[in-house]
Amino acid sequence: RNRAARLSRLPQAPTRQVQSFEELPEYQRVNVQRAAGEMIGVANPFYRSHDRAAGATTVVAGHELINFASYDYLATNTDPRTLEAAKATVDRYGISASASRLVAGERPVHTELEMELASVYGVDAAVTFVSGYLTNVASISCLMGPQDLVIHDEFIHNSALAGIKQSGATRRLFRHNDVENLESVLRTLSTEFRRIMVIVEGVYSMDGDIANLPALLELRNRYGFWLMVDEAHALGVLGATGRGTFEHYGIDPKEVDIWMGTLSKTTSSCGGYIAGSQALIDILKAEAGGFVYSVGLAPVLAAAARCSLQILRSEPERTEKLHRNGALFLECARAAGLDTGLSLGFSVVPVIVGDSLRAVQLSNELLEQGINVLPIIHPAVPEGMARLRFFITCDHTEEQIRRSVAVTAERLKDLQERNFGLASLDM
Ligand code: PMP
Repeated sequence: RNRAARLSRLPQAPTRQVQSFEELPEYQRVNVQRAAGEMIGVANPFYRSHDRAAGATTVVAGHELINFASYDYLATNTDPRTLEAAKATVDRYGISASASRLVAGERPVHTELEMELASVYGVDAAVTFVSGYLTNVASISCLMGPQDLVIHDEFIHNSALAGIKQSGATRRLFRHNDVENLESVLRTLSTEFRRIMVIVEGVYSMDGDIANLPALLELRNRYGFWLMVDEAHALGVLGATGRGTFEHYGIDPKEVDIWMGTLSKTTSSCGGYIAGSQALIDILKAEAGGFVYSVGLAPVLAAAARCSLQILRSEPERTEKLHRNGALFLECARAAGLDTGLSLGFSVVPVIVGDSLRAVQLSNELLEQGINVLPIIHPAVPEGMARLRFFITCDHTEEQIRRSVAVTAERLKDLQERNFGLASLDM
């Protein structure tokens, strides 16, 4: 009773109302977008649910569609060999690694996949993480800290930005693919930094252009920084045998300090990797929180990715076909007067249409015409640069490409001619 009396004499903490999520400005933004879409009768193109594996074609709500929204670049997602490898691994190991690799999550297939990845890049070693996104976050924040500097292309992926933010390093950016601008940033550094890292993408995910690797390496050797290249959209895509940006330029891959990639695109699985020197990989395996404190990559995903990599290496004709498809798409799109921006064909071809509303409407109209392609709108790209992003795969047929480009050009022209008198929808 004494204790209760003592407590009742203590000053009371002010009552603080629990904030409801509905009150948040973030939620209000979501609702404004939803209401605006409903008001003008534009269906939400996102979260379309697919009834089967999505490759060059797919099925949405029972309708067979030509599909340009999935990045199964070499069409290994449904290859009988990948499925067989996955099934055999499930039979043996179940689904999950059930623990971090360090404790009880290690399976032989992890090492097999990592050796395969290291061999693709001709480097000492590789390590895998449970997602591509996590790979960037965990590795950048492990290697860099508050005394360091990260300079990146202005168009790098959100996951790399998240890694830089988490690292606490100073962040500077350079104009997209502008090596002279990067050099001017390097030349004018006023502070002494402990470490400097420059981050670029092999093939840029929104634009489909390619990093100027030879010029970047020349700068690396003069200014002394680590070069990290995100190969998410380049593995299986660039180079005669699909080994990526270094093969495209005929460069020794050992010259790049950190190769990063994802297992979700060309290797049609899930996860990500870093490939490089043995010391780099040893550091990440011991110190990267997103590796040490996270479950090991599911063995089934590792086995599927490994099988896809083996297909990539033994069947370069898939990459060749992808090159032909990308070139054909680009040629047809340009001939039809479409704005493909900086794209060089290969895996990613944007069709830039202007404001976000138009991109959403065009995507919806193409769906009605049997073509699935998704809009990329603000804030993923600057307003006015909204686009449809076409992912090209080796499985698309010439007919599918020609028809899709023709229908896109026709629907876009029609949309431009209709006067909506509506302000752009900032989705
Ligand atoms: N880097 C780039 C360039 C990407 O485009 C993506 C995702 N599309 C990632 C990293 C993250 O990979 P994941 O989706 O496999 O997590």
